[in-house]
Amino acid sequence: MIKAVRGTRDLLPPDTALWNFVEQAARDVFRTYNFHEIRTPVFEETQLFARSVGEETDIVSKEMFTWEDRGRGQSDKGQSLTLRPENTAGVVRAYIEHKLWDRGLNKLFYIGPQFRRERPQKGRYRQFYQIGAEVIGPPTAGSESPARDAEVIELLATFLDRIGISGWTLELNSVGCAKDRPRFNEALRKALEPVVTSMCADCQRRADTNPLRIFDCKVPDDQPIIEQLPRISDFLDEGCRTHFEQVKEILTAVSVPFTINDRLVRGLDYYTRTAFEFTHGALGAQNAILGGGRYDGLSESLGGPPAPGIGFAIGEDRLVMSLNRSAEEAIRKPDVYIAPLGAGMNQEAARLSRELRPHDIVIELGDESFRLKKSFEAATKAGAKFILIVGENEVKADAFALKNLASGDQVSVPRQELAQRIKSGR
Ligand code: AMP
Repeated sequence: MIKAVRGTRDLLPPDTALWNFVEQAARDVFRTYNFHEIRTPVFEETQLFARSVGEETDIVSKEMFTWEDRGRGQSDKGQSLTLRPENTAGVVRAYIEHKLWDRGLNKLFYIGPQFRRERPQKGRYRQFYQIGAEVIGPPTAGSESPARDAEVIELLATFLDRIGISGWTLELNSVGCAKDRPRFNEALRKALEPVVTSMCADCQRRADTNPLRIFDCKVPDDQPIIEQLPRISDFLDEGCRTHFEQVKEILTAVSVPFTINDRLVRGLDYYTRTAFEFTHGALGAQNAILGGGRYDGLSESLGGPPAPGIGFAIGEDRLVMSLNRSAEEAIRKPDVYIAPLGAGMNQEAARLSRELRPHDIVIELGDESFRLKKSFEAATKAGAKFILIVGENEVKADAFALKNLASGDQVSVPRQELAQRIKSGR
């Protein structure tokens, strides 16, 4: 038997109703904040991720699904391609490729699958789904403003509240910018010198190539050492410090609670200044439901113009796991099961359903070969509210037997009144 590949899974009804509920709520919230959808390809040139996410990150060094595409001839040369492990890089590539700066400030959102070769476990998959957004544009459009950081974070709080997720925690930090990073890296290297040989192999390498990534380390024995390392918050320059203060002030003004976590650096190289994560207690080890931050230098590092930006990605799989509603509640059951009774009645049932469905009535259509008992069983199994019987007598009278399956009440309803009757009874 062929099964779904390790770390991937099928999403089936009724669970998909929860996914649709979450995605619809996200679209509604994005609309009121004036965000518009972008769809970028699922695969990109490998270089895009190596240059943005960073060679030394876990994502690029261990987790990407990359292959050599052989191309199809002279003008279609082979190249290294990668299934996107995240979507910010693709959005910024698109920003540069389509000169989106002409539009001023771009407020974009996406919903789609991402791919990472991580060790599968509860809440961690190799194909997972993210709902994300990016605010990016030329500095003259206000893209650097702390008001944008605060707005994006406040949007997230609104969204989580709206889908009924309570008990989240917002952790906030500033990871500084290109100007203060070298000073911090220098201080880190110095602090690491006497201790690094007792750390894990990954950290020993990171100390050399990209010391900030040491904060991504999960090895328990390394944690006491990491705890003693200098904090990035002590190295922020004046600009970054004021920027962070303003973000916090606005969040306080709009009553979005946060805690400062000065070890939060996020596992991707492109982040600058504001970095944040929302966590949820009920999720266990994989408790981060979303993460985001500012990436002021990313466009330039990909060959584009200065285009400060801030974004986030919500892990939709984990979000669905932390919902309080059950899939059964979210799914919309049929309002009516139409039971054609006897030869030639399929077409009559089809006519009726064509009339009724435009009234936003959910219909399950039976089959004329079913006996009445079987139709009742099918209607009950489908969870329909009513069963509507379409037999020769009903067609002649142009009035149909409508039975409420829960109460057992049955009435004969003229065709013109059916829609009204079904809707008022549901
Ligand atoms: P990141 O930018 O890597 O922090 O990813 C943002 C969010 O995506 C995380 O907070 C998780 O909720 C989710 N996420 C990341 N990797 C996975 C994965 N392998 N499986 C499920 N969700 C993931």
